[in-house]
Amino acid sequence: MKRKTEPLTGLLKYEHRTIVAMTEIYCRNHHKGEERVNKLCTDCREFVDFAEFRLVKCPYGQVKPACQNCPIHCYKKDMKEKARIIMRYSGPRMLVWHPVMAVKHLMHAKRPLPPLPKKKRVKKIEDEKSANRIEATEV
Ligand code: SF4
Ligand SMILES: [Zn+2]
Repeated sequence: MKRKTEPLTGLLKYEHRTIVAMTEIYCRNHHKGEERVNKLCTDCREFVDFAEFRLVKCPYGQVKPACQNCPIHCYKKDMKEKARIIMRYSGPRMLVWHPVMAVKHLMHAKRPLPPLPKKKRVKKIEDEKSANRIEATEV
């Protein structure tokens, strides 16, 4: 079932379009017997909807790194694996079907990692403090 999301804008919208394009290539060649709506089977639709939801919630917002470089990596395990499989298959094929998107995607992946968003930094410091407290009580 599709989660309710706010509309994506800018970089996030473009990234989602790229994910959809990659998933369409993958779905076309792997799920031939499946019923498809708008070029995607139910499983692949679920994946792109999940990716959209994560992009809406991405704490980096418009300065997000490529997800494969992200230190937070907010995907749940099965979706992370599906993303890996789709990217591996469709990445090289994107150069044929969507060359501009493919090049932009590669350039995005080369960008330096932005600083952790403030909320995550605070959590990281709190986690480190609590780990130090545990170590201190253990000695
Ligand atoms: S993996 Fe990282 S960059 Fe990608 S959506 Fe999640 S938090 Fe944002
Ligand atoms: Zn599919």
